[in-house]
Amino acid sequence: TKTPVTVTVTGAAGQIGYALLFRIASGQLLGPDTPVKINMLEIPPALKAAEGTAMELNDCAFPLLDSINITDDANKGFDGANVALLVGARPRTKGMERADLLKANGGIFGPQGKAINDHAADDIRVLVVGNPANTNALIASAAAPDVPASRFTAMMRLDHNRAISQLAEKLNVPVADIKKMLVWGNHSADQYPDVSYATVAGKPAADMVDSAWLEEYFVPTVAKRGAAIIEARGASSAASAANAAIDHVYNWVNGTPENDWVTAGVASDGSYGVPEGLIYGFPCTSKGAEWEIVQGLELSEATKAGIQKNIEALESERDAVRELGLL
Ligand code: NDP
Repeated sequence: TKTPVTVTVTGAAGQIGYALLFRIASGQLLGPDTPVKINMLEIPPALKAAEGTAMELNDCAFPLLDSINITDDANKGFDGANVALLVGARPRTKGMERADLLKANGGIFGPQGKAINDHAADDIRVLVVGNPANTNALIASAAAPDVPASRFTAMMRLDHNRAISQLAEKLNVPVADIKKMLVWGNHSADQYPDVSYATVAGKPAADMVDSAWLEEYFVPTVAKRGAAIIEARGASSAASAANAAIDHVYNWVNGTPENDWVTAGVASDGSYGVPEGLIYGFPCTSKGAEWEIVQGLELSEATKAGIQKNIEALESERDAVRELGLL
């Protein structure tokens, strides 16, 4: 049998954690042949709830679940970690200034980045889910100078999946027919969902929808889907966020399908004019090792504008974080 892979989940006792852990333990994160050791990292008040979740995990008798460790110590939580899902974050509360939000998250993601640097396995792969995800990933990466920046990623996959779902519904086609969807930039209201390259059963999606629908319905619906779910459910999206985290890591580790790509928030290498280092939603493929940014796409004026808006948003967050001394 294969040696177990260590997966660390922070904020493990939260809503997303609850939707995520059972799927990790059942083999959906890494594949049906890979046993997992789960490290649950939480803050002290949530440790008891984490223990409850661990009891349920054990009660599932998952054949792939090797062991569970629960801790509030990041050094222990990331010890030997091969995959880290950073879900726990400080949510924005009413009236909170952006600088305060970034500072509070710097206090979480800085130390976690350092613990990853010092204790994680050499092949560590990090996905940041906790918001503001792109900038939290930047903070963690900056605190981990010995880990290649390419190993710190932010979750854009939920936006990508939401965009596929909206297009499938509009055209009344199965989601499986849609390839090469893309959501540029930041996991925020500024994100730019883009059907320019998408195909539906091999034909260009852009020919099947008009620009009024794209601008007035598609883009805002995808970008504001989180708020619509809170409105309907009375709670934020958790299962779909967990599902997107699973998709992201699964494709990173096992590769993306031929002739398709996914959206991942990865450190820019300067592609498409995005300043080097920003964690940005790009079209990405993987062959099972590193994310690669798809090159050579021709950009429309609308896409260029969407990309630019996201550069500005992320640069301004980066500058604010730098001013706080977190980079
Ligand atoms: P959730 O599990 O619902 O959400 C956790 C984070 O994921 C939030 O930052 C949230 O951002 C973000 N997120 C990203 N995408 C989505 C999405 N599509 N829908 C909803 N959320 C999304 O939060 P809970 O409050 O239930 O749980 C958080 C847990 O984290 C708590 O148990 C807390 O104790 C823990 N925590 C752990 C820390 C640690 O391990 N050191 C540090 C801080 C908290 P947004 O706020 O924008 O919705």
